[in-house]
Amino acid sequence: MSFLEYAPAPESQAILNLRSEYGLFIDGEFREGHGTPFASISPATEKHLTTISTADGADVDAAVAAARRAYDRTWSRMSGADRGKYLFRIARLVQERSRELAVAESLDNGKPIKESRDVDVPLVAAWFFYYAGWADKLDHAGLGANPASLGVAAQVIPWNFPLLMLAWKIAPALAAGNTVVLKPAETTSLTALLFAEIVQQADLPPGVVNIITGAGATGVALVGHDDVDAVAFTGSTPVGRAIAKSVAGTHKKVTLELGGKAANIVFDDAPIDQAIEGIVNGIFFNQGHVCCAGSRLLVQESIHDEVVDRLKSRLSTLRLGDPLDKNTDIGAINSSAQLDRIRALSDIGEAEGAERWTAECTIPENGFWFAPTIFTNVSTSHRIAQEEVFGPVLSVLTFRTPAEAIAKANNTPFGLSAGIWSDKGSRILAVADKLRAGVIWANTFNRFDPASPFGGYKESGYGREGGRHGIASYLKTAAPAAALEPTRKSVTKGAAK
Ligand code: NAD
Repeated sequence: MSFLEYAPAPESQAILNLRSEYGLFIDGEFREGHGTPFASISPATEKHLTTISTADGADVDAAVAAARRAYDRTWSRMSGADRGKYLFRIARLVQERSRELAVAESLDNGKPIKESRDVDVPLVAAWFFYYAGWADKLDHAGLGANPASLGVAAQVIPWNFPLLMLAWKIAPALAAGNTVVLKPAETTSLTALLFAEIVQQADLPPGVVNIITGAGATGVALVGHDDVDAVAFTGSTPVGRAIAKSVAGTHKKVTLELGGKAANIVFDDAPIDQAIEGIVNGIFFNQGHVCCAGSRLLVQESIHDEVVDRLKSRLSTLRLGDPLDKNTDIGAINSSAQLDRIRALSDIGEAEGAERWTAECTIPENGFWFAPTIFTNVSTSHRIAQEEVFGPVLSVLTFRTPAEAIAKANNTPFGLSAGIWSDKGSRILAVADKLRAGVIWANTFNRFDPASPFGGYKESGYGREGGRHGIASYLKTAAPAAALEPTRKSVTKGAAK
C-alpha cells in the first residue's frame, strides 16, 4: 500500500518572543532566583531555548510570603463576582495568546502542535472560563454554609501537560479565594512563565499568583513550607507518597493526582473502526505521556488477531517528527531521562517474553524519540503490564469473559482511568460499575471537560480535579461527605459515529 506524501508544514515560531533568561514570578514581578539557573532545551532538537532561574529556600519563603499578603489584604476580601472577572480575563487572554502558547508548549515539551493547538490550550481557556463561573456561586452549590477558602496553596505539576496542569491547579484555587505558589516541572517551565505574563496583563493583584521554577528540591521546600494551607500535587506515585508522608500530621489539605495504568477493554461487539482510533488515541496521544493513557489493551480473544493487525496498519500511517509540523502525529519524548526509562522497560518487556512490534519510521538525528510500539503475548505479571511506561508503548492482553476482563483490568496498583468498547450500553454500565478507576470512558478515550471530575483510586492518588469536586478541594466545607462524593467515578460515553 502506498500512502500520500506530506510536504513539511511547520508552524512559524515568529510569534514567540522568548527572553534569553527567565526569573521567578513573585509578588507580581519577575526577579532572579538565588539558586543555580538551568537551561531549558527543545527535546526535538536538543537546542537551547532559554535559561531559567532556580528558587532556593529564601525564594520559596518570599513567594509564600507574597501569596500570604495577597490573600490577607486583597484576594480573600474580594467578592466572588470580582474574582470571577479576573478569571474570565485570564481565560480571554489565554485565547488571545493561544497560538503563541501552543508554539511554546510544543517547542518546550515536544508534543505535536496539533495537540497543543487543538487540545491543551483550548482546554486551558475552558478551565478558566468554567471556574470563573463558579467564583460567585460557592454559597449556593451544596458546599455547606459559608464555604471558606483555605489560604495559600502550594502547587507542583509535571511536564506532560504543562499549561493544562497549571490551569487545573490555578483556576479552581483562585475561584475559591485562595492565592497560589506554583512550581512547574524543570523540563517544561516555559509556558508557566508566559502564563505569569498573562497574570500581569490581567492586572491580577500582586502575589495572588506566584510561579517559582526549579527541580525537586524547590518542590520539597514549597510543599514543606509551614505557611501553606493546601498542597496540590500532580506527578509520579513515588513523589506523591513522599509528599503525603511529609505533610502527614500538619494542617495542610492535600490532593494527589498520580500515575496510572489504564485498561482499555475491547469487547467483540465493539465498533471496530472507532475502537482502533480510540486505542491509538488512548496510548499514542502526547507520545503516551499521559497519566490516564490506555496503556493496557484488553481485547476479547476472538477478535485479538484482527485488532492487532488493524492496529499495526494504522500505526504504520502515523507520522513521527518535528512537533511544530502541523502533520505530525507523534512528537518527541520530553527528556533523555524519560527516553531511557521507556527503553529500559521495553527491553524488560522483551526479556520477560512479550513480543515486540515497532512501527517503521525515520527517527530524527537529534532529540529524543521512540517509535510507536506494541507488545503482544503480554501476561498480567509482566512489568510492562504493571508499571507505568509513560511512553508510546501498548501492552496487549486478552480475555474471554467480562468477569476475566474486569479481574485483569483491576489487577494493578493504580486506579485512574479505563475505557470500555462495546455496542451494548448495559454491558458498558455493568462493567464500569466493577472497575476500580476514577474515570471511565465508554466508546471513546482521553476526553476531558472542566465540568467532569478527574482523579484516581489506590496508588493513583486522592482528591478530584474538575467540576464541583475540584473546587471543593480548595475550600473548608462543612458539607456532609456524601454530598461531596456523589460521583464515585465519572463515565463519559462517546457518540457512536
Ligand atoms: P515527578 O513526580 O517526577 O515530578 C512532578 C513534579 O514534582 C515536578 O515538578 C518535580 O520537580 C516535582 N518534584 C520532584 N520531587 C519532588 C519532591 N520530593 N517534592 C515535591 N516536588 C517534587 O513526575 P513527572 O515525571 O514530572 O510526571 C510524570 C508523572 O506524573 C507520571 O507518573 C504521571 O502519571 C503523573 N501524572 C498524573 C496526572 C494525574 O492527574 N493523575 C496527570 C499528569 C501526570
